[in-house]
Amino acid sequence: MNRCIKMGFHMNKRRTQAKETTSADLSRVKTIGLIMPDYAPWRTAARELLMAYLPNGDIQFDGEADAIIRVVDAPEGLTIEAEIFDQPFSECTFEVKADETPDSERFKTFFYHFLKDLFNRPLAWGSLTGIKPVKIAHHYMAGEGLTRRQAMDKMMRIYDVSAEKAALAAGIARREMPIVYPLDDHLVSVYVGIPICPAKCSYCSFVSTIADKKGVLCADYLQGLISEIRQMGAWMIKRQLRVDTLYIGGGTPSVLSVRQIERLLAALKESRLVHSKLREFTFEAGRPETTTPEKLAVLKAFGVDRLCLNPQSMNNETLAAVGRFHTAADIERVYRQIRGVGFGCVNMDLIAGLNQETPAQFLTSLDRVVAMRPENLTVHSLAIKKGSRMKAAGGHRYTQLYDAAFYDQVHQKLAVAGYEPYYMYRQKYAQGNGENIGYCLTGHPGIYNTLMMAEKQTIIGIGAGSSGKVYHAQTDRFNKVFTVKDIRTYNQRGQQVIDQKRTHYQNLINQK
Ligand code: SF4
Repeated sequence: MNRCIKMGFHMNKRRTQAKETTSADLSRVKTIGLIMPDYAPWRTAARELLMAYLPNGDIQFDGEADAIIRVVDAPEGLTIEAEIFDQPFSECTFEVKADETPDSERFKTFFYHFLKDLFNRPLAWGSLTGIKPVKIAHHYMAGEGLTRRQAMDKMMRIYDVSAEKAALAAGIARREMPIVYPLDDHLVSVYVGIPICPAKCSYCSFVSTIADKKGVLCADYLQGLISEIRQMGAWMIKRQLRVDTLYIGGGTPSVLSVRQIERLLAALKESRLVHSKLREFTFEAGRPETTTPEKLAVLKAFGVDRLCLNPQSMNNETLAAVGRFHTAADIERVYRQIRGVGFGCVNMDLIAGLNQETPAQFLTSLDRVVAMRPENLTVHSLAIKKGSRMKAAGGHRYTQLYDAAFYDQVHQKLAVAGYEPYYMYRQKYAQGNGENIGYCLTGHPGIYNTLMMAEKQTIIGIGAGSSGKVYHAQTDRFNKVFTVKDIRTYNQRGQQVIDQKRTHYQNLINQK
């Protein structure tokens, strides 16, 4: 394809709605056939935008379907047309230039405008399908020097983002600035992964292994992990890299015994990954049945200052249905223990859409969590991904009840309770096309989360399944560094995995 779409496109619309086909028929569409050039970026964009309009739709790239959307890339323009139940419905032609290369962003704009006309409604994020829209606002403000208002206007103009979403993205970008800047090449954040859980939640697609009753898996894993911590710590000292924030995540790190947690934290301290100047030190004690006052006391003694306790729902029926063997009362009990030990910052996660909960049920969970006053509260939108039990069992249909009005209600409720959004990312195919938003009480943003989302600082990943990023300030780009996900492979190949990864970090950092 050697042609390019004009910057300011011209759209010739032709609604060829047949008499017997009405907009109401769109609501009956279950299968969609996309007939279009075999060009992966266009196909991905078309699929993602269509999924945003029809989250339960079955989208194929050929064959028979209730609706056919055909994209024809011809010299005179790009034509997109729709047939609904075999009747011509709508057609748009976008003028293109003949002498430039087509670009997937422009295609996405065309396709979005076609769908907006077809479904007769805009999407809140307009033509943006990327998962980190805050980065765009951040770039406008920090890179181009625009004000928050100007960044909002630009997002609305270029991507057709709604005023509310533009304000959300630009507001978060503004809050990130004092955390992210000034950039310092010698500062890094460290993520230590413990991908082991006491049981598997049905919605979870994360590669975590279930702990065995005898504790062999945890013991073997800890041995390899401590070895990696010592080696990476020594390497970081040599490279004059100092830890800014430290995050021990999972899985469920609190599945380790008190002694194992002690050994882990002692190794981190001896390797100077824990020191008195850390800006934040987080430990995920996600499931309350794995947390005890003894473990909390050890965490506190080693300087952990942010604890995650994740209810996901405060509805006992839902907790049981998704395979979490604790109750809402357990969450409240452990929360009191956490405060009793003196932790000043607690994060709690909730997921909207679990077990076909109604919005009202979710809001009841939200009220119960807000009443505890955690400093950080993350609201996730359920997204059924490959690798989860839910997906393997045929998924679950997204309920249309979780719409933009629902998420607005969540936002307003939290604003009234004193919470403001400090980080946000979108998930592909999330319930109600909603975002995952981290809220905080004013003045208590999660620093690691902010840095990870802003992608302006190097993150060193330690342990199975951890992913790190090496940031290059000169080019404002980063490279990812992965560690093998499977814990048994990590345990077996130990030193080889560590050597390969350290060399990878070394090479990338040398390129700076
Ligand atoms: S959601 Fe968390 S606790 Fe549940 S299986 Fe996944 S990683 Fe483990």
